[in-house]
Amino acid sequence: MRIGVLGAGQLGRMLALSGYPLANTFVFYDQSGTPSVGLGEVIIDRDEQYLDDFLKRVDRVTYEFEHLPVDVVEKIAAVKPVYPRPRALKVCQNRQAEKTLFADLGIPTAQWRMAESETELQAAAEELGCPVVAKTNTEGYDGKGQAVLRSPEEAATAWALIGPNRLMVEKFVAFRREVSIIAARGEDGELAIYPMAENVHDTGILRYSIAPAPGLSPGVQEEAERYMRMIMTELDYVGVMALELFETESGLVANEMAPRVHNSGHWTIEGAVTSQFENHIRAITGQPLGDVAPRGLSCMINIIGETGDLKRILELPYTHVHLYDKAERPGRKLGHINVLADNYEELKWRVRNCAEFLPGIPEFQSSLTRG
Ligand code: AMP
Repeated sequence: MRIGVLGAGQLGRMLALSGYPLANTFVFYDQSGTPSVGLGEVIIDRDEQYLDDFLKRVDRVTYEFEHLPVDVVEKIAAVKPVYPRPRALKVCQNRQAEKTLFADLGIPTAQWRMAESETELQAAAEELGCPVVAKTNTEGYDGKGQAVLRSPEEAATAWALIGPNRLMVEKFVAFRREVSIIAARGEDGELAIYPMAENVHDTGILRYSIAPAPGLSPGVQEEAERYMRMIMTELDYVGVMALELFETESGLVANEMAPRVHNSGHWTIEGAVTSQFENHIRAITGQPLGDVAPRGLSCMINIIGETGDLKRILELPYTHVHLYDKAERPGRKLGHINVLADNYEELKWRVRNCAEFLPGIPEFQSSLTRG
């Protein structure tokens, strides 16, 4: 099948890498003009001049980025099947719509209020009780467009930073750790759900993902699977979706979802029988889904800003390096390393060894290192 991908970054690149063995071909359509995919024709089109050309060359369309203009995606969906459906995109790019969907389905979230001015922000902080996290309702990613208020008086500073914008103000969740769950759903409703991952962030960017998440209490994986099933069924979802959650003393709290393959699922490339990328391609092309069972224990380490000592990393016998062919730049995701092991102790030491060769990476702190 000829697959059109909206967006031409590393996720599109990894989708193509997993889709070519099944004899799919790829054309990428990018409105920003900064492609890094390098694995197929890229159409750069800032003002929709070449949209018809793109559509003529593809059978199905998917996307690797959720901040796309919904009207363009709906226009595409009138001509070619788009998976995940535009409704998923619409919900996921708007925090209020997303949290409302969670509430409708009975999925717990942080308490939240909307604010459209500094006064409303301060009032929301007072009502919810600080600390609170204020987030732009649309457009935010990797912790951008966010501010933490330790007291309502900080509303002015926060508003100066992320206003004037419609903001979602959330009560700060005292979480034990951050986790995520990734699932694929086929056109026929078939579901394949991966084991949950534990995610370690630094300055808003994912640094480490451990899967399966160590030491999950009984029933937690099942609870997350139940949420995933409800969301995907409600959206009649086709493709891979990620749901990010907080694990707290009193159970799981949903934070946000992504209508695409996700950084916290990169471990599946070598760490699961079928990767999230292949399962996304299978789902959107109407093929049966592949086995999501883990092949041992994995930790994904993001390579951010600088590539580091690649030679030394490649010399380690337990690393799988994936580079996105992007130039070094502070804060930029340049690639990732999947480390595999047979037990968590071994995984911890392997991750530490590997991180030695990545400049600027925060020390590996996770539930594995807290004992
Ligand atoms: P988000 O863009 O919603 O994924 O938020 C980015 C990061 O900010 C999350 O991964 C958390 O580390 C932190 N964060 C977001 N919302 C909250 C919250 N309500 N309580 C505590 N931490 C949060």
